[in-house]
Amino acid sequence: MEKILIIDDSVVQAMYLKKTLNEDYEITLAHTASDGLMRAKTGAYSLILLDIIMPDMDGFMLLKKLQEELVTQHIPVILITGLSDTRSEEQGLILGAVDYIVKPFRPLIVKARVDTHIKLYRYRVQIEQQAMEDELTRVANRRHYEKYSEKKWQEAIRSESLFSVCMFDIDKFKVYNDTYGHPAGDRVIAAVARTADSHLQRSTDFFARYGGEEFVAVVTGSGSEEVFAHFKKIRQAVEDLKIEHSGSVSPWVTVSMGGVTILPKEGDQYADCLKIADSMLYDAKRLGRNQVVWMNENKEQWRERE
Ligand code: GH3
Ligand code: MG
Ligand code: MG
Repeated sequence: MEKILIIDDSVVQAMYLKKTLNEDYEITLAHTASDGLMRAKTGAYSLILLDIIMPDMDGFMLLKKLQEELVTQHIPVILITGLSDTRSEEQGLILGAVDYIVKPFRPLIVKARVDTHIKLYRYRVQIEQQAMEDELTRVANRRHYEKYSEKKWQEAIRSESLFSVCMFDIDKFKVYNDTYGHPAGDRVIAAVARTADSHLQRSTDFFARYGGEEFVAVVTGSGSEEVFAHFKKIRQAVEDLKIEHSGSVSPWVTVSMGGVTILPKEGDQYADCLKIADSMLYDAKRLGRNQVVWMNENKEQWRERE
């Protein structure tokens, strides 16, 4: 059930609104603006119904604050108020409220408007999710990865923490498609993605399909030895799927991985870091595939197979 937050200093009004919407939504009440703001910041709500006249902070001010906060700025706000002058309505809508309802209100009209905005909100969330997700594998897509990596790179610079990126690529995949067909190839891409994704579930991990049969992972805060060991495990897990691939370097589908762990400094470019990962992947291919090649924070190269 979708959650709605009602912020109204009048207990009677808030209860009446709650009664109007209770059947279809999970309602939370806040009777001061500051309590409302605190609850809104939990990010749990799909809609906020906001009274304008309140003693501690008026609804316009609170609306402004909601729009400034990253976690709350996407939540639609409907203003509900006794102020019936058009100037207030104008101000509310310009500040970003999605709708404006004047008290005394007719319950069925409020309900209908709420339903509409909840529906629109659901569509938007769904579209935003789809825009970040790869259709075939359901893992993050390239666009999501670009946003994430740049953000984490800047964070790592600020917090002086280690940053690792790993590129990987399915071995002899053109041959796989030629031998087993493109639909079978698609299933392999999905299986490899699922396997890698299941090993990259910490809050400091990120995994995406980079494109085609290539993937990329970002791990923040861990040392190179730990990260190198982890990706060797993932490479092995892909081989352990034992998906037949007669034209490759092993009887099974395998991946080659190239990665780097770095302590980024002010002015360092993420693109240069990615280039290193790319050249490690190139080495992994050149050295025989089905292996991980890594560059640690001291610029020493580690190879899985010597
Ligand atoms: P290498 O071991 O050097 O990586 O050889 P490779 O054949 O995997 O390398 P290459 O990059 O030449 O070929 C990648 C192939 O991946 C070519 C393309 O047909 C296939 N491919 C890319 N995207 C998809 C996809 O979405 N589905 C399927 N089935 N195949 C794809
Ligand atoms: Mg490739
Ligand atoms: Mg390949």
